[in-house]
Amino acid sequence: MSEYTGPLPVPTPETRPFWEATRRHELLLQRCRACGRHHFYPRGACPHCLSADLEWQRVSGRGSLHTFTVVHRGARNFPLPSPYVLAVVELEEGPRLMTNLVGIEADPAHIRIGMPVEVVFDDVTPDIALPRFRPAATAS
Ligand SMILES: [Zn+2]
Repeated sequence: MSEYTGPLPVPTPETRPFWEATRRHELLLQRCRACGRHHFYPRGACPHCLSADLEWQRVSGRGSLHTFTVVHRGARNFPLPSPYVLAVVELEEGPRLMTNLVGIEADPAHIRIGMPVEVVFDDVTPDIALPRFRPAATAS
């Protein structure tokens, strides 16, 4: 395992529950008790109806690939091993998040928009696990 050299999140009061969950290898989304919808990123009010009556809910981590690009040469301040796949995943619950698609870098020709994906957690430091996504097992 090579040492992680990329940027790290700095948890804030609003995002801390999310990062504490990823460390346990759980994916949480905020859900609005007023309108029932999920959203991402974490924030203090629902982006759909502006209610502040929010709860955290563990979600499946399953979704589909909304869009992606294969990065062959990263930016100077983003020194990840390349190539890597920068992706936007749409979760089953609706929200989209920017992430990496992993497990397929060696053969990006097989990446398809709409393909089913599932979350995996990358323990990049003792305190931070980053959610990434891989092609979903076909049996599920
Ligand atoms: Zn709402």
